[in-house]
Amino acid sequence: MTDVHITPGMQRYIDRNNAYLEKRSRYIREVVKKWKFDTIAVHGLYSVEDAVEDYQGSIIEPVFMSTSQAYRDSDEMASALAYLIPTWCYSRIANPSTYYYEWTMALLEGYGFDGETTSCSTSSGMAAIMTAVQPFLVHTHKSVSEPRNFVATAQCYGGTFQQFNVRLAEERGIECRWVEDPTNLDEWASKIDKNTRFLYGELPSNPGLSFFDVKAVADLAHGHNLPLICDATVATPALLRPICHGADIVVQSATKTLTSSGFGVCGVVTARKGLVTSVPNEELKNDFALYIKYLPNRDYGPNLHPMQAILSLNDIRTLRSKMDFFSRNTQLVAEWLETNKQVESVQYLGLKSHPLHALASKYLWLVDAEHDPQYGRPVNHYGHLMSFCVKGGPEKARLVFDKLQRIWRATDLGRVKSVATIPAISTHQQQGEEGRKLAHIPANMIRLCVGGEHPDDIIADLEQALAAAR
Ligand SMILES: *Cc1c(COP(=O)(O)O)cnc(C)c1O
Repeated sequence: MTDVHITPGMQRYIDRNNAYLEKRSRYIREVVKKWKFDTIAVHGLYSVEDAVEDYQGSIIEPVFMSTSQAYRDSDEMASALAYLIPTWCYSRIANPSTYYYEWTMALLEGYGFDGETTSCSTSSGMAAIMTAVQPFLVHTHKSVSEPRNFVATAQCYGGTFQQFNVRLAEERGIECRWVEDPTNLDEWASKIDKNTRFLYGELPSNPGLSFFDVKAVADLAHGHNLPLICDATVATPALLRPICHGADIVVQSATKTLTSSGFGVCGVVTARKGLVTSVPNEELKNDFALYIKYLPNRDYGPNLHPMQAILSLNDIRTLRSKMDFFSRNTQLVAEWLETNKQVESVQYLGLKSHPLHALASKYLWLVDAEHDPQYGRPVNHYGHLMSFCVKGGPEKARLVFDKLQRIWRATDLGRVKSVATIPAISTHQQQGEEGRKLAHIPANMIRLCVGGEHPDDIIADLEQALAAAR
């Protein structure tokens, strides 16, 4: 951007905007960062001052469906298009509605983090993953045959598995090195070499609920000058904020629990400023989210619609309380399933029987439980994703599944409505027998995501379904 000729008129816009940015930083530092999680979720950066000055006092953030911004004069336009001032020049690049959504997410992921975080909204969780990983896979020399690889947890969302295995590995020759046991640090370490670009981990994973020690893996990554990218969709920032434990970037499918309403597909990438990477690109390192927003995403266009940004933002306001009661409901359902004779096994991180219960309990805490009059102390919560395997094999699992009445059969999760799926015939069908084995997905597994119904009604539904398939 440095080759832009700055006229005196442009300089006035730049000065004015620098003053605005300074004021915004102060507001974040001195006001917003001191709020509790719920307050940030409700208000984000949208202040009374913003509302009365720019948005006619509207108490809800603006829904600006407009494609672009008009400028006062050529100086303002030139400054904006050279990114010398904040702008929403064109909605593929930036927009006031996505702006407020992005700031709320940056502040929630950075809650309790002693540094700065920024976010870039994306049209989906998959777009978030794509835009988070691609910038690290560029050729750093001029050579086109430069070998590149990355290391990722094999237990991950089916779409992620396809993106990494087919789009990046098969189609583009970028090697994806799967970690089969992410609790084994030696396995992570053994897969890193001089051509590794980043470490990637999903936790808790969907649907296998795999988990790893974020801090230890982040330390390992940083020891090799690499970033750690986490997908924490299943936990949401109400239970886990990987950046607080050393991760560099977090991707979220806001489509899922973050919103839970089921009103649309939506994603976000959040990064801490000054992340660790061996890719020689200062803009990327300093403010990754702003970098991808202004450059790669401008050119690829995986951006979020302003209407969806506001719908999502509105759902996120109540995230903490939703995560609280979804988690409590799921715990009850999981405990009940463990007692049922048709059930071979139950996988839920909140169960003492789960091999990763202790590790997950180190990281999964309901945010601000110690400030919640209901609890008044730190409380572990484990979210609303669980799965169970039905005795008698895949046919029996399908019988039980087909008998469900309250629980909806859908390849979805994170809803206020309870939903179930059989991963082997749905979300994880594409990756084949071998891929499923790698990700520990047996054919008799039913993935269940417990919603906001009364847990007695969900248990009753499971009871009749399991009984009918006896
Ligand atoms: C659904 C999901 C994604 C993909 O998100 P979309 O919004 O559907 O594109 C990524 N990661 C996890 C863990 C998911 O559950």
